[in-house]
Formats: sequence, C-alpha cells, structure tokens
Amino acid sequence: MSKIRLMVPGPVEVDPAILLTMACEEISHYSEEAISLYNFCVSSLRKLFHLNMDGDVFIMPGSGSIAMDTCIGSMVRRNDTVIIGVNGTFSERTRSQALAYGANVQEVRVPEGKAVTAELIDEALIRHREAKAVILTHLETSTGVISPVKNIGEVTNNHNVPFIVDAVSSFGIDEFLLDEWNVSICGSASQKGLESPPGLGIVAVTARGWREIEKKGPSCNGWFSDVQVWKRTLTGKEIRKGVVYPLPMTMPVNNIRALEASLNSIKTEGAEARMKRHSVIAHSVRKGLTALGFELFPPDGCYSSGVTVVRNNQNIQVDELIRFIKYQYRTEISNGLFDLYNRIIRIGHIGATAYPDAVIPVLFGIEQYLRKKGRFIPIGASLGEFDNLLFKEGIEV
Ligand code: PMP
Repeated sequence: MSKIRLMVPGPVEVDPAILLTMACEEISHYSEEAISLYNFCVSSLRKLFHLNMDGDVFIMPGSGSIAMDTCIGSMVRRNDTVIIGVNGTFSERTRSQALAYGANVQEVRVPEGKAVTAELIDEALIRHREAKAVILTHLETSTGVISPVKNIGEVTNNHNVPFIVDAVSSFGIDEFLLDEWNVSICGSASQKGLESPPGLGIVAVTARGWREIEKKGPSCNGWFSDVQVWKRTLTGKEIRKGVVYPLPMTMPVNNIRALEASLNSIKTEGAEARMKRHSVIAHSVRKGLTALGFELFPPDGCYSSGVTVVRNNQNIQVDELIRFIKYQYRTEISNGLFDLYNRIIRIGHIGATAYPDAVIPVLFGIEQYLRKKGRFIPIGASLGEFDNLLFKEGIEV
C-alpha cells in the first residue's frame, strides 16, 4: 500500500536519501568527522538565520521545546518581569516555560487567530518599565498566524529590552533576519522548515543577545538550558584533559548527518528560491480553499508560507474530513488543537510537500468531501490557481 504523505505542520516528510544518511555506523561525537559535520551545519544555519559572525548557533539534542527552554532559561532570571505575546498553544507554552523559570509574566494576550502587534507590545513595555525581556512566537503553528517580528524588534530595541523569539516552525520557510530585526536569541528545531528528522533543537544568539546575557550574569536556571555553558565549551574554556571538544555532551551524530544532508539540499535549491516556492504554493492553497468557500483563519498579511489554516465556516466534521483525506488521498493533514478542535483545518506544505503533486490531492480531496456532503462544487474548483503556476522547469506544453 502506498505510504501516507505527511502534511501536518511538522514534523515534515524527510527525503529517503536524507534518512539513509543516518543508517551508518556510529562515530564518536568528538571525532574530527563529527565535529566537522557539526561545524558545517552551524555555518549553514548561520547563513539561513542571517546571523553575523559575532553571534552563535548551537545545535542540541532535543526539539523545539528544548531550544525555547534554553532561550528563556538563558535570558530570564527569577522575578524578572517578562512580556509575552500569547495567541495560541505554542506561545502559551513559552508562557509556561517563563513561569517555570520564576518570571513575573505579563501577557499580551490576543484571540487565537490574531497576530500580536508592535503597538500592543509597545503599550505593555510602557506599562511595565521594569520589563527584562519580551517573548514572541513568530509563527503560531496552532493557528497559522505570523506575528511581525521585525516591527516588534524595533519596539524592543527602542525600549532596550532583550527580545526572545520562537522560530520553531517559521525558520527556513518564512523570512527571518535575526540581526537586522533586533532579535537577541531564538529557538528552532530540525523537523520543520529544515526538512530533517526530529531530534535536534537549534538556538541562535546574536551579538546583542550575548551582551544582554553577560550583563545578567550566571543564569542559575540549570546547566543544559544555559547558552553560556555551550559557549564556554565551544571556546575551549572547558578543556577535558587537553582535548578541546566544542560540545558539552554526547551528540546524536546521525541526526547531525541528516541535518547536513538537508542543509546541502536547501543550498542546492537556494534558500531564496526555496522560500519563493513555498510562498507560491501557500498562495495557491489559500486561493484553492477560499474558492471552496473557506475563510482564512489568520488576518490578511499574517499568512505563513509553510502552514495554511482555514476556519471551519461550513460546519463540517473536521475529524471526519481528515480521516477521509488520510485514507482516500493518502495524506495526513491536521485538526485544530484544544479549543480549536473541529473549528479549523491546518495544512502543512513544507519542503517536499510544497509542490503541486502534494497539495493538489489535498485540495481535490477536500472538494470531493464537500461534494459528498451535498455541496455543488464543479470538479477542479479549488485548482484554478495551478493553471498558470510557476515551476517552469523547461517544459512548455
Ligand atoms: N513552538 C512552535 C511554534 C511549534 O510549532 C512547536 C511544535 N509544533 C514547538 C514550539 C514545540 O516544538 P517541539 O515539539 O519540537 O518540542
């Protein structure tokens, strides 16, 4: 039986050739080969983050939550007032993480499906002059909403407050300019926009972030979740019996191999071209779903190129639709989480699934489901946008 394509908003499909890179014998994590794999990944990630040489990238065993825990643990101290934009499940998680580190959390809460705005963060920073950090989730994966990191970075810069960003699901797909947007520290993961298997958390610290962390001094927030520990090891200040080893713990080297392979494939396509491809596909999916009568869940201009979310304004059983698409069209898409269950539909089109061959069956399947429910919809009504679509790879017909 054919495999089921993975079009949830992460983890994403991984190219079998990339998966195969993991099927090799173990090497020590402190061997030259492992260190050179790690260094290659760090320098490729630096480019994707638009991070200057005076900042650092760390790749760690774990996932996006580990990366965000490290960002927050490194930058927040007990009793610090922290302003957090909350607009869904994952920004809610950053709130729990800050609370776990003893922060005095001041929420800027907006309804799910809305973006956190620069004006709201500015007002909160005026109300809380004592604030020691702002935390924002770039792409709130539970709703598909992108919040304006660039504009909020201008505000945090004006108030001279560190800016922590969750870029777990946006990184690699949606534009993200770490230094230029005044971000101090941000977290991501291997299994979304980087098209790698789950298993790695990624943290990037800008020069600005380092200055802020140094000013705060030791974190007292544990060991793993302190980038100062990672930096000390990297700079050889923790030398074990004369061996300078850049990482403080055993690394899942096979995951780093896979990441190297996916970063190479991103490089071959070109990061800009790849982002453009995602944006064109996302546009076509939005057009297709609105042609079927769905309402986009994020406000205009807050769309992500990797995840499309629509409101269930047609009163369908979303869980039934998802089962129909999964077994009839061999593709898994997502329901809403918690309160949004059966109220929205979430489709991930990231990496290998950001092509017409992956999104067309999903759109067609949704059409077909609606027809089965008695709606009159001409065949192909959601596919008009593909008529004049892109990907001119030399085939004119
Ligand atoms: N933040 C965001 C925006 C996410 O989408 C996710 C995962 N869906 C996380 C954090 C948590 O990441 P992980 O599941 O890799 O720990």
